[in-house]
Amino acid sequence: MAQVYDIVVVGGGIVGLGTALALKAREPQLRLAIAEKGARVAGHQTGHNSGVIHSGLYYKPGSLKAQLCVEGGRRMVAFCQEHAIPYRLCGKVVVATETAELDRLAELHRRGTANGVPGLRRLGPDELKEIEPHAAGVAALHVPSTGIVDYTRVSEVMAELLKQQGVDLLLNAEVTGVREEPGQLQVTTGQGTLLTRQLINCAGLHSDRVARLMGVEPDVQIVPFRGEYYFLRPERANLVRGLIYPVPDPALPFLGVHLTSTVHGRVEAGPNAVLALAREGYTRTSFKGSDLWETLRFSGFQTMARRFWRTGCYEYYRSFSKRAFARSLQKLLPAITVDDLAPGGAGVRAQAITSQGALVDDFRIVHAGRASHVLNAPSPAATASLAIGEHIAQTARETFARAN
Ligand SMILES: Cc1cc2nc3c(=O)[nH]c(=O)nc-3n(C[C@H](O)[C@H](O)[C@H](O)COP(=O)(O)OP(=O)(O)OC[C@H]3O[C@@H](n4cnc5c(N)ncnc54)[C@H](O)[C@@H]3O)c2cc1C
Repeated sequence: MAQVYDIVVVGGGIVGLGTALALKAREPQLRLAIAEKGARVAGHQTGHNSGVIHSGLYYKPGSLKAQLCVEGGRRMVAFCQEHAIPYRLCGKVVVATETAELDRLAELHRRGTANGVPGLRRLGPDELKEIEPHAAGVAALHVPSTGIVDYTRVSEVMAELLKQQGVDLLLNAEVTGVREEPGQLQVTTGQGTLLTRQLINCAGLHSDRVARLMGVEPDVQIVPFRGEYYFLRPERANLVRGLIYPVPDPALPFLGVHLTSTVHGRVEAGPNAVLALAREGYTRTSFKGSDLWETLRFSGFQTMARRFWRTGCYEYYRSFSKRAFARSLQKLLPAITVDDLAPGGAGVRAQAITSQGALVDDFRIVHAGRASHVLNAPSPAATASLAIGEHIAQTARETFARAN
């Protein structure tokens, strides 16, 4: 006998878990399941990120990212307080290392103010040293509301709460097929068949594929970009007090290599951004022919690659050259040397790219029939997960109610 649900959420990352929590908070009687293909929650982007609670500085005012990051950051801090999850509002500095970056720094200040980020302050070189004694720059922006947390821990607590609320968390339950039937969907998973009235696709690196399983042809494809980290050797961790970021390149959706304290007392340096040769390709040698072929033959990727080939080549060079990585960090932190860097982990970002080759910047959520698809949820989606969940729960239920 197939299990029958009101809603099946595909994906046990922080966005799927946040969405399930919001759905249950709105309608406690819902019969809900989460189908996760891995053996645990948070096994992909959520468990391989920088652990930053972003403040909402970078995003275009009025965008979903701007709205949901500021609100989501507040909710994330409240969630950590309520459930005794370690976090720290350590603050961050965004450092302009040359005068050519000053206009972009001023634009960040304007955006942050427009987005309601509290306490922003422009710093001169001496004021920067008071906050981060080893950082160097011509000017900086201090963002005191930025924090750090372990999103794997947050996700585990979310999963536990959901189980207590009667949600079925199905692990090793990859969704491999979805068939539309009168009044319901038949969902084939690694743990058997589920029947559901509605489905919410939060499958991260595979969200475009899950949408296609349902006959939806999204205008975007996920292209995986690996981000590699180093750790600062423990005896050099005192070089960094909080978070030190460069001024990002507005043409790219990534923030540039930065230095991040973690709640576990270490300092991470990174991540860079290289094309991953597999959607779940966490090492340089990870390779999956079908994933790579899907990327290479995608017209959007080809257009993007023609535009950014120089940046791409440099990122590859820096991926193989620890010296080049150290040189990037030295712009922010002159005292750092190659010997201070020890190997760290890596994460893979699910970046949606349009068929015209544009890197989708904002969160993208599409509602179609009985399903809603989260087709782009890059950084700061971990920070914003509780607010994204609330947004999806509201829009998905309203769209579904109108259509049925
Ligand atoms: C290197 C890096 C650094 C980052 N730093 C930050 C940061 O500091 N702060 C921040 O806010 N954000 C950061 N992010 C972004 C953040 O991690 C992601 O935006 C967020 O985790 C996305 O969550 P998700 O649930 O959408 O995706 P995921 O965590 O990837 O979860 C998707 C889940 O879906 C499952 N799944 C996929 N296909 C199927 C299927 N067919 N059936 C069933 N299950 C399936 C996967 O197994 C996975 O568990 C970073 C990301 C990366 C990669």
